[in-house]
Amino acid sequence: MKMKRRGFMGMLAGAALPMRTEAARAPRHLKIQDVQVVVTNPERSAMGNFVLVKVVTSESGLYGWGDATCTGSELAVARFIEAHMRPALIGRDPMRIEDIWQTLFLLPYYRSGSVHMSALSGIDMALWDIKGKVAGLPVYELLGGRARSKLLTYTSVSGRDFQEAGEAAQRARERGYKVLKVQVRAPGMESGYAVPPSERQREATEKAHQAGVPPSELWEPAGYVRMLPKLFEYMRQKLGDEVELIHDVHERITPSQALWLAKALEPYNLFFLEDPVRPEHLDTFRLIRQQAATPLAMGEVWTGQWEGLFLITEHLIDYVRHDLCHCGGITIGKKIAAIAEPYGILTAWHGPSNISPVAQMANCHVSLSVANFGIQECRTNWPEAAREVFSTAPSYSDGYVNIGDEPGLGIDVNEKAAAKYPYLARHRPTIRRADDSAWAY
Ligand SMILES: [Mg+2]
Repeated sequence: MKMKRRGFMGMLAGAALPMRTEAARAPRHLKIQDVQVVVTNPERSAMGNFVLVKVVTSESGLYGWGDATCTGSELAVARFIEAHMRPALIGRDPMRIEDIWQTLFLLPYYRSGSVHMSALSGIDMALWDIKGKVAGLPVYELLGGRARSKLLTYTSVSGRDFQEAGEAAQRARERGYKVLKVQVRAPGMESGYAVPPSERQREATEKAHQAGVPPSELWEPAGYVRMLPKLFEYMRQKLGDEVELIHDVHERITPSQALWLAKALEPYNLFFLEDPVRPEHLDTFRLIRQQAATPLAMGEVWTGQWEGLFLITEHLIDYVRHDLCHCGGITIGKKIAAIAEPYGILTAWHGPSNISPVAQMANCHVSLSVANFGIQECRTNWPEAAREVFSTAPSYSDGYVNIGDEPGLGIDVNEKAAAKYPYLARHRPTIRRADDSAWAY
């Protein structure tokens, strides 16, 4: 493996009495000189605003990039970093990642929550990027090295009906995917989570965006829950038993519906059932676990290592799905994996298209290095504008993703290109029941 080593390894290869190089001395004198925030939306999409953090050091040309994207609160996170975190970081030693993490976590008395923790996550990633560059090593080497050579991944396939989703699944299989997340629009619904909306819904959503208000979507969970066993029966008939199948409920059903669903899906042998209940209803996992063998995954909305901790220590889930952009960055991802490892619980870090390639790279560094890796969700079909802004992204081949061996996170941001695609005001939809009451997204 080709590596650009600076400092320590070069020192070992040198004279008997090691001489410290300029690079090797640098960490002891490094200071954080500036913290800059770049908000960019290269795709010009409703979910495409990325909040990028650049931590600049006192060494010329040495900086780190992190991703603090928190969809729905992007500008709050950007302002939080600029107004509240930047002053606490200037002058600090960027090599002291754990110390800075603890300092920033305890900084606001009213701590935690998605805005604070997304800001902290972005800073954390940037500090690991800097440390890797100083060491001349990719971040996964600093986390223990590769525990595997590539990362099993999956893609989402969806449709307006079973046939359309089945055809999309077959196309994904032809592209080499071994694991598929399958989503279908429920009967009588004009939209749903990760499914194509109807033309009428699309027009209403665009109209709301133009008016600068959140679009509204109708959602009734009962028909959706009744549909899902039929969907997976169809998929097994169409695709056979070899392919692994996932479904994401996205927290849109009641606790009792989640229990029924986990039991009803047992015959279809899912890879996992994702987000079966809202994060407010975590006690439901005890009920589900007592009665159903369907593997369960949860965690993408948690903002720290404490939320959902009992689901790990009581072994009530099978996959931890924390988002490294919200839970506290690489530092916390590594810790959560270590907590889950003795229970045989595997990682499946959240890697949707609404986090940037910087976070996708961070996901891969942690996933490569942990013993209890399960699967890595990862967007790989970035549009041209995103490729202009970001120097790289995880690469896809035959059902797996991988990253290179560049020092740090191995990704750079073209700030001039990012400036061409500024923040785009787009509100997330509100979900309403048929009686016009609010419901979980
Ligand atoms: Mg999910």
